Amino acid sequence: MKKRLFYLAAAAASILNFSGCGTAPKASPALSVYSPEPAAEYCMLYRGVNRFKLHPDRQYAVFNNMPIQLPVAPSYGKNRIYQVVPIVMSGIIDPLMTGAIPFRSVRRILLDPGHGAHDSGAVGQISREKHLNLLLAQEIRKTLTRQGFQVVMTRSQDTFLSLPDRVALIKKHKADIFISIHHNSSRNNPQAAGIECFARRFPRPEDTMLAVLLQRELIRYTGSVNRGVKFANFAVLRNNPVPSVLIEAGFISNKSEEKLLADPRRHREAARAVAAAVTAYAELAKGR
Ligand SMILES: [Zn+2]
Repeated sequence: MKKRLFYLAAAAASILNFSGCGTAPKASPALSVYSPEPAAEYCMLYRGVNRFKLHPDRQYAVFNNMPIQLPVAPSYGKNRIYQVVPIVMSGIIDPLMTGAIPFRSVRRILLDPGHGAHDSGAVGQISREKHLNLLLAQEIRKTLTRQGFQVVMTRSQDTFLSLPDRVALIKKHKADIFISIHHNSSRNNPQAAGIECFARRFPRPEDTMLAVLLQRELIRYTGSVNRGVKFANFAVLRNNPVPSVLIEAGFISNKSEEKLLADPRRHREAARAVAAAVTAYAELAKGR
């Protein structure tokens, strides 16, 4: 990632208001954002009902009530000036605050149940990730189809596909968006629980928006712990030509959550959540 710094207010001045941040002191570049608060505090960006909270030198941010783990922390240098790299501004903050994403009709969704065959993914006490991924994906397919979307799957049985093969199916099926379904596991923390959604590490507005909508609806429908939206260089996201998100739908390393994740009721809740998020995304992508 380029190290060139971007002064937060440069792109944002016309669309955002700031609080917890004052105007730039005369001596510093005119478009920087100066925070009068000490380093432990935060900078809040406003637009309409939207709020984006940045913390100095921390990747942890909050969009409305959604935890967002930024791929690069805002730097908070001399003179209490917040600086954000351009890609975080254009790929995350701007699209979330304005709701603006590229126009695209969303008709066909490629669902990608992770792992398969000899690749079990995470292994719990009563379940294997590859099976849970497929069960959940099948329920999501049903729900999305009922709502009028066309759905294709990278696998509909316990078969193996390489990661590039999964992404290659986008072109073959002319899919408009790609959603990979996984379940999480923590070796060190058996209490770890909840849902998180990943967008690609070099963020694009459409991926970020889809991840936030999916995460929001998944938490709303399941009542699960909100682990927020994260950005990662996963192979299925990195080279993906269409808006793509990887869902980690719960921890099979957590005993009580593992039981829940095998429950068809939970699959139905999560499937309704994904359908609500895809519908909301399709509306936004149509433009206003
Ligand atoms: Zn997995």
